[in-house]
Amino acid sequence: MHKLLMVEDEERIREFVVPYLQKAGFEVDEAGDGITGLEMARSGRYSLILLDIMLPGMDGREVCAQLRKTSSVPVLMLTAKSEEADIVGGFESGADDYLTKPFSPRELTVRVKAIIARAYPEKKSAILEFGPLTLDTDSQQAALDAKPFALTPKEFDLLLLMARHPNKTFPREQLLSEVWGYEAVSDARTVDTHVKQIREKLGVYRGMLETVWGKGYKLNENNH
Ligand code: CA
Repeated sequence: MHKLLMVEDEERIREFVVPYLQKAGFEVDEAGDGITGLEMARSGRYSLILLDIMLPGMDGREVCAQLRKTSSVPVLMLTAKSEEADIVGGFESGADDYLTKPFSPRELTVRVKAIIARAYPEKKSAILEFGPLTLDTDSQQAALDAKPFALTPKEFDLLLLMARHPNKTFPREQLLSEVWGYEAVSDARTVDTHVKQIREKLGVYRGMLETVWGKGYKLNENNH
């Protein structure tokens, strides 16, 4: 869960906005002055800082400038209409975005979500599932019914290529050029040998690696 810090001296605004952010799934801590805000923001516990400009103790631009010396945490400046000239100053001090008061909590939530999504992209799953077979492209680990089994790198690449295109028939020549590439292998029987080895490792699921007579091989999800 992403944790936010709202640095805002007007309690009224915090009370108005914080429940919306919480409802949107964020945990929110609050600070009522610039010095406390800076200290909390430096802790590294927050995914985003909501920072008012006019603050007692230390103003928002200074807080942001100080924070930037040690942290790259995203900062969203909250600024009054009358302070719009300060926005430029806000960006100079390292803010990522700004929102002009009065803003709706909904508007703020949308903006916060957009910054969070940009700053913390979700890691795309490296796991490819094909029936009982899973291939983890990060660790090069293969599993059947969640039980890991060993494949050579070429066997893994061959299975991965076919698993990415279910039910597509691959001619031997294509498998050779895509998996072996520039390595000097001209014999299509190399593919047959690897397919045989893979089938042995697939055990009871060997039937999913199908021979398409006269054409090549394919992975058939329904045939196991
Ligand atoms: Ca203020």
